[in-house]
Amino acid sequence: ARKGKTPEEVVKRYLQKVRNPPEEDCTICMEALAGPSGYKGPGVGGISRAESVGRLAQCGHQYHLQCLVAMYNNGNKDGSLQCPTCKTIYGVKTGNQPPGKMEYHVIPHSLPGHPDCKTIRIIYNIPPGIQGPEHPNPGKPFTARGFPRHCYLPDSEKGRKVLRLLLVAWDRRLIFSVGTSSTTGESDTVIWNEVHHKTEFGSNLTGHGYPDPGHLDNVLEELKAQGITEEECLS
Ligand code: NAD
Ligand code: ZN
Ligand code: ZN
Repeated sequence: ARKGKTPEEVVKRYLQKVRNPPEEDCTICMEALAGPSGYKGPGVGGISRAESVGRLAQCGHQYHLQCLVAMYNNGNKDGSLQCPTCKTIYGVKTGNQPPGKMEYHVIPHSLPGHPDCKTIRIIYNIPPGIQGPEHPNPGKPFTARGFPRHCYLPDSEKGRKVLRLLLVAWDRRLIFSVGTSSTTGESDTVIWNEVHHKTEFGSNLTGHGYPDPGHLDNVLEELKAQGITEEECLS
């Protein structure tokens, strides 16, 4: 979205300048805020002084400017920044989900724990491919196991709200990621990102099934941590 801006310009958009840094450490590099950034890697040479400190405008957390720029460069450089301390998101966070399809429809059966409504079935399909620059090993293939993956939500008011927000999460490439599966240990494969899905319909053998009274509220919290809320999507 913010193409043409340098990483330093993107980061500075969200910062207020701090003239007298407090006697605290920068939690990115663990060095004193009053001294220079401890970051030694590439990408920050030639930009602002190592002593520059900024305060994130909304949450107030302070870091060396060079540390924030280094953190931004390590991510997918989408114009957004997330405070590493409190997770406040500046701009619109996007992920690195590979290309694929998200579909859904209503099926005329009830989920355990939701006897009064039908069920929304979401079908995700992502084929294997080659990793892009935003992935852990650019140019290397990635696998995609267990697709199509079927997921279930109650077709209730709250379930439909979760669906609407999941559609936004899909567009922002936040439902899946490429990495190492904690279930199978396989690397360079498509994995669930930080938003939990229920993949069992009538049973709960894996723990990813119903009933689970807290599920929809948990998912709403997880979506919020990715910057996705109904308020924000309506505006
Ligand atoms: P992962 O194992 O790295 O886990 C990431 C997150 O997804 C965790 O929060 C975990 O709790 C959740 N998760 C794990 N298994 C889940 C499931 N069955 N349903 C819903 N959420 C689940 O991520 P991953 O490798 O994408 O997930 C593993 C699941 O993916 C497997 O259980 C299976 O459903 C599917 N899979 C299938 C094959 C296959 O060959 N059929 C291979 C790999 C993965
Ligand atoms: Zn620092
Ligand atoms: Zn913060």
